[in-house]
Order: sequence, then structure tokens, then C-alpha cells
Amino acid sequence: MNVLVTGGAGYIGSVCVEELLGAGHAVTVLDNLSEGHRAAVDARANFVHGDLADRELVQRAVRAAKTEAVIHFAAHALVGESMTNPGKYFRNNVASGLNLLDAAVEAGVKKFVFSSTCATYGVPERVPMTEDLPQRPVNPYGESKLMFEKLLRWYEELHGLEFVAFRYFNAAGASEKFGEHHRVETHLIPNVLRVALGQKPHCEIFGTDYPTPDGTCIRDYIHIADLAQAHILALAPGRRGFFNLGNGAGYSVREVVAACEKISGQKISALERPRRPGDPPRLVAAAAKAARELGWRPKFPKLEDIVATAWAWHRRHPQGYAD
Ligand code: UDP
Repeated sequence: MNVLVTGGAGYIGSVCVEELLGAGHAVTVLDNLSEGHRAAVDARANFVHGDLADRELVQRAVRAAKTEAVIHFAAHALVGESMTNPGKYFRNNVASGLNLLDAAVEAGVKKFVFSSTCATYGVPERVPMTEDLPQRPVNPYGESKLMFEKLLRWYEELHGLEFVAFRYFNAAGASEKFGEHHRVETHLIPNVLRVALGQKPHCEIFGTDYPTPDGTCIRDYIHIADLAQAHILALAPGRRGFFNLGNGAGYSVREVVAACEKISGQKISALERPRRPGDPPRLVAAAAKAARELGWRPKFPKLEDIVATAWAWHRRHPQGYAD
């Protein structure tokens, strides 16, 4: 298919583009490079530099690519930042995203695949979390993604735009070529691995008084190549709806630090800090629906295997991408 990928220069998008091309799809990447990197765009893809806020540019890009499917990764995605600058999240993730939805409808796009998040659930009533749990976000990031999910429901009902929305748990790991390089790194695994690389004296643990066995937050880490595979499966006609994407296993922050120590063979010093606002204590996926309806089978169910791919990439690219 002709697939337009927004955010294809970003962390998850870059690996999805690589896998799409490998599966024989034609890919156009649309990215404003605010967070992504030109060097993260697979050389086989077309690249359009532009912002989703630019309605006409988005329309032109969707038409010029003869787009049959849109995969929409481009978004701001930091819980902490969304708590201090909510407008940035609603403007980009909702208002600018609407330009893309309208352009997709106008161009007769057949499928729209959206990167949503487990942050739409807020503090879950129970874990593992199924798709039917109430969605009550506790930060503007999660709220902005939930708002876009609601737009998708209406666009499907009123415009017939078939969609799949994936609620990612914690994306992690790397492919051979593409990995995680945020300009300001806030994520746990890359920050811990920086200590192992000797780039920082210590990492930080945000909150040690959560109601979890070791007092630190529990998350479900999922390899980005596995996320990418789910997107490819979603392109088949008739596949639609909301799906959690996670491994169904939760690891605490301390367990992640321990896994990074084991894989890197380095002692990693960690400082205990106060809680980070907006963090639910425990987020773990029940992803049986994606397995059942999409035939999705993660290749990296174990945290240590995920960390090993991230460690290999960071060692090869200690400064990340050159740009
Ligand atoms: N975290 C931490 N130290 C860090 C970065 C993150 O203790 O340097 C914690 C964070 O509070 C959360 C978990 O690790 O409980 C995962 O955070 P991350 O930012 O990687 O992903 P998020 O869950 O926010 O999407």
C-alpha cells in the first residue's frame, strides 16, 4: 500500500517505516523534525518536511503520496511536560491532528492507524488492563490522545474512515539501525543506559513510596519492532478498533535499573527522588485482543532482551543521531 507516516523520523515511527518498507509498502514520511531526526528516516522512504499545523501542506502531502493508509505517530508524548504546558499538547496532538484527519477523508484514504496510549486510562481500576476499562486520564498528554480517539470514532461513523487506535504501553528497544534519541531525554531506559555508557554519574528514580512491592512505578515495556508489526497487521481491510499493545508483564523502575546493570555489565548508581507528577503507580497491558483479532505475537516478551537491543544501539550511537 501507499502509506503516509507522520512522525516517521521519530523513535517509534522510524522503526515502523523500516518494517513497512521491508514488508513491501511504499512509504512517505511527514515530519517537522521537532523531535525526530532526518537521519532516522529510512533512505528508501520519501520525506516531506512539514508541520501538521499547516493544513494545506498536509493536504498536498496526502494527495501527492496517493495515500491509501495513514499511520499517525507525530505527537508530543511527555507526561511531565504535558503537566506544565498542556496547551502545547492539545494544540499539536488534537488541533493539528485534525488537519490530517480531514486531509485523509478528502483524499479517500482507506485506513487510519493512530498511536494512542495507555495514558488514556489514567489510574486503572485493575491490571492487567483490558480495552474496556474506563478512560480517565490523569495528565494532559493522555487527555489529548483520548480526545483524538473520540475524533476517530466520529470520523469513522460519519465519514466511513476505518481506523485502528493502538494504546501503547512503554515503547523501548531499538532495531539494528534505528533507536531512541530524544533531544531532551526523559525516558527511563535511555537515561539508565547513559550511566552505563559513562555519560552521567547516576540515574534518578522518581518516587519510592508507591503502593507497589518495591515502592517504584511499574510499567509494561514493549519493543518498538513489535509495535511496528502491529501497525502492519492493522493495514489489512476490516481490521478496526482499539487495541492495547504491551507484553502483559510489569517491571518496576528498580527492576529496569537491575536489567540495565545485567545487560551492560556496569554498576549503575541511582538517586531516589520525589514522585514525578502525573505518573500512575502501575500500568500493565492485557493485550489478548490484539493477539486474537490481529494475530499479533510480540517477538521480545522479555525485558532483558528489549534492553539488550537498546544497549547495542546506544553503544553504536553514543551521541544518538548526528543531526
Ligand atoms: N522514571 C524514573 N526515572 C527517570 C525516568 C522515568 O524513575 O529518569 C520513571 C517514571 O516516573 C515512570 C517510569 O520510570 O514511573 C517510566 O517513565 P518513562 O518516562 O520512561 O515513560 P512513561 O511511563 O512516562 O511513558
